Amino acid sequence: MKYHSTRGQAPVLDFADVVLTGLARDGGLYVPESYPQFSSEQWRKLRGKSYQEVAYAVMTPFIGSAIKPDTLKTLIDEAYAGFHHRAIAPIIQLDTNHFLLELFHGPTLAFKDYALQFLGKLFDHLLQERGERLTIIGATSGDTGSAAIEACRDKDTIDIFILHPHNRTSEIQRKQMTTVLSANVHNIALNAPFDDCQTIVKRLFGDLEFRDQYNLSAVNSINWARILAQVVYYVYTALNLGAPDRSMSFSVPTGNFGNVFAAYVAKRMGLPISKLAVGTNKNDILTRFFNSGEMSTDVVSPSIAPSMDIQISSNFERLLFEAYGCNAEHVTKTMATFDQTGVFSVSPDVLAKLRETFVSARLDDDSIAQVIQETYQRSGTLIDPHTAIACAPHLVQALPEESARISLACAHPAKFPAAIQAAVDVFPKLPSFLGDLFEREEQFTVLENDQAVVKAFVKETLATRSGTL
Ligand SMILES: *Cc1c(COP(=O)(O)O)cnc(C)c1O
Repeated sequence: MKYHSTRGQAPVLDFADVVLTGLARDGGLYVPESYPQFSSEQWRKLRGKSYQEVAYAVMTPFIGSAIKPDTLKTLIDEAYAGFHHRAIAPIIQLDTNHFLLELFHGPTLAFKDYALQFLGKLFDHLLQERGERLTIIGATSGDTGSAAIEACRDKDTIDIFILHPHNRTSEIQRKQMTTVLSANVHNIALNAPFDDCQTIVKRLFGDLEFRDQYNLSAVNSINWARILAQVVYYVYTALNLGAPDRSMSFSVPTGNFGNVFAAYVAKRMGLPISKLAVGTNKNDILTRFFNSGEMSTDVVSPSIAPSMDIQISSNFERLLFEAYGCNAEHVTKTMATFDQTGVFSVSPDVLAKLRETFVSARLDDDSIAQVIQETYQRSGTLIDPHTAIACAPHLVQALPEESARISLACAHPAKFPAAIQAAVDVFPKLPSFLGDLFEREEQFTVLENDQAVVKAFVKETLATRSGTL
């Protein structure tokens, strides 16, 4: 399988190079040259198979000859071996024709583990094969940092540096990062707010000499392998609920548009998905887009569903490319306008086409709390604030009645205890494997808010590491 950029000016690459490259050199995102098609008969044959077997079947046509079949099987088995539910992605029922897909059974209790655990194994395998090493640098205010650290820990081919704002993350989020004591994991607590952490990371990437010397890589959601790994749970769930002989609709709490785009990929592969609901919090750029056809950025305001507090959805460009009939020139022009003005619009035709599949709604903090409360009262199920957005009655009811309606539970309620306690006065307990999290030893380095200081720290740490490897 070949991949090309949504902006058409970057080299065409195979799967392995796409994974290691991340963002295309023309600023675009890599997409496959075509979407593999599965017939109804092929879908039916996958019914009743394990998550790992479904993953293998779904991923194989996208990977082609870039990874040997036995190696891919091993990578998949290893990626999901550390999950804490035998079904990996179990479904529970909340109401007549309303299901909850639980995607929080990975090591850090958020759905990002489903993609990042696989990506970590994949990186390690490809780097070993090439005799290369990689330095991952990222800034985090929440879920991504811990999922990335868990995915990269103990890998000889990778060093990972994650900056978090000192004393400004929740305790559980910090502990999930800083209690990983692997030699290749380097937590930096920056004496600064989150935005400054992000600025320093961006500047380090802009320092091309530094970037090339240490083979820097990012941990953002634009990597194609992350999307691919997420397609798997849509297929697995759909088959378990009767596809291809029954259509499916999913409601997805959305930030960078990676997760819901994976659902769209499953649809393009021939899985009978009728509608996709895009749930947003008060940072509702996507809801405004699907209602008006105009994408316009706004300032980010903190919400109780913080993993969706975004200004721009970095994966949306992949959908735009589809909506424009794979016209890279058109995408390039649109994104240039967006960069310069913070606004772009699509034509009524394009919007109408997108709305055949997508519906969208926003929930402010009070409505999120209300959904948490109602869900608990009606079914005894505790849901986290992000999941609550996907469970909002008006969003779920916008999905066709004849399809199976499935909301995605993207984080474990115990990751956001304060919001849940405020809504229902119940304290959600951490699963037993994390029960001692608060007693575990932490390791992090506090640094001043200065790019030169951070750069020097990375250099010294890597020099010491290469001496000990
Ligand atoms: C990352 C995240 C999201 C947003 O997912 P995208 O793929 O960025 O749209 C939603 N909920 C939770 C809990 C997350 O961690």
